[in-house]
Amino acid sequence: MSIQANLQQIRECMNAACHRAGRNPAAVRLVAVSKTKPAALIEEAAAAGQNLFGENYVQEFIDKREAIKSPVEWHFIGALQTNKVKYLPGKVQLIHSVDRLSLAREIDRQWARIDAVADILIQLNLGMETTKAGTEEAELEALVRAAAALPRLRIRGLMALPPYLDDPEEVRPYFRRLSELATAVDALRIPGVTMAELSMGMSHDFEVAIEEGATLVRVGSAIFGERT
Ligand SMILES: *Cc1c(COP(=O)(O)O)cnc(C)c1O
Repeated sequence: MSIQANLQQIRECMNAACHRAGRNPAAVRLVAVSKTKPAALIEEAAAAGQNLFGENYVQEFIDKREAIKSPVEWHFIGALQTNKVKYLPGKVQLIHSVDRLSLAREIDRQWARIDAVADILIQLNLGMETTKAGTEEAELEALVRAAAALPRLRIRGLMALPPYLDDPEEVRPYFRRLSELATAVDALRIPGVTMAELSMGMSHDFEVAIEEGATLVRVGSAIFGERT
């Protein structure tokens, strides 16, 4: 199937999931995850109306961004090394993967250089998986409070990469948990913090994520094909 046909099918599934959940389809955005895929395929998706892309690797992202002529928005969704943050100011609209204070501090420092404010999400490790990035639930409030105190950061919500489980229904409790945590953080009324965004759901489970309140779904292989 073509990228255009894939996008159309995904948008239909997204709309259907919104309908089932009684949500407004305009409240859910599709982040097309283009890691490892060439710029030509990003242009193809852009030509089909997709204007938001997610990238994981700083150098690859910088190179491809240069090559893309269409006006698109970029989100950084991958594990982020502190020493690479300096390449991102002015180039990404949202960083999904802030999971530690040292990283938040460096983003604050680098965005100050361009006299701007960075929008970020806090990434949770819900499955307590040692192989995955993300802060643990018990650390969440402290991290949010400390990051929110940094003048060049605006915390916009939470992100999670739950365990991969064949049956998307089995992932539902993780999505529900992320939504509950966002509600709990919101209730703290911390200045500079809004829980407007919930980044959760990938190719095989984005419909369940939308039913549980996702506002950003990160879909790669269902759009661009399997990564090799
Ligand atoms: C690769 C990636 C995705 C997309 O995964 P697919 O299964 O290809 O849809 C989503 N989120 C993150 C953080 C990723 O690294």
